[in-house]
Amino acid sequence: PRKFFVGGNFKMNGTIESIKSIVHNLASAKLDPNTEVVISPPALYLLLTREHLPPNIEVAAQNVFDKPNGAFTGEISVSQLKDSNITWTILGHSERRTILNESDDFVAKKTKTALDGGIGVILCCGESLEQREKGTTVEVVTKQLAAVNDVIGKDGWKNVVIAYEPIWAIGTGKVATTEQAQEVHAAIRKWLGDAVSSEAAENTRIIYGGSVSEKNCKDLSTQPDVDGFLVGGASLKPAFVDIINAKH
Ligand code: 13P
Repeated sequence: PRKFFVGGNFKMNGTIESIKSIVHNLASAKLDPNTEVVISPPALYLLLTREHLPPNIEVAAQNVFDKPNGAFTGEISVSQLKDSNITWTILGHSERRTILNESDDFVAKKTKTALDGGIGVILCCGESLEQREKGTTVEVVTKQLAAVNDVIGKDGWKNVVIAYEPIWAIGTGKVATTEQAQEVHAAIRKWLGDAVSSEAAENTRIIYGGSVSEKNCKDLSTQPDVDGFLVGGASLKPAFVDIINAKH
């Protein structure tokens, strides 16, 4: 059975004070022990977050670079994350793909570097509204994942959580329906079975992101191929605890 996984992506939000308060809230809440919880503050606050969180909650960077060290102004390496006890990174978020022009190949290279260095990867994929309306959702998403598979190989998926995040649902309040989410998650799992291995299909967590809230999380969590959530806006609020406990 796949362990339910809930990530909180704070994006470029928060202050020392607000992040301390979120961390305090999580540390004192009753969290489902059957859910793996990972929060992802801006890079500047990773250490502060790690320092104040109990060990059962993990911390993710929002990005990492694909080189070990050196003259790469503004970037952070995998070994620096490890050194700081940051055990995960988000990669391939649509905001980085579109606003920062990250290509499938660059995302794949960074995924490989992170995995080789022992950092887990929350790998994001997802289609635009236009692509959905054209009926190319599964094609778009599996192409994004195939670019990574080409680089990490069949054994690379053990430390990857796939986050399906339709771009039209991110920050819009327009959550995918349970049927829409389940349909794409099932297609991704089928792709894993065909392109990677039956183990990868069976064991890889596929989580949903895009306007997840305490109101819609329970329904989504009943779907057989929805193994958790990647939460943006709601992860900054006390209701994040209800999302972590969606399976209760
Ligand atoms: P929202 O939950 O704010 O829609 O953001 C989703 C997201 O992009 C998480 O990575």
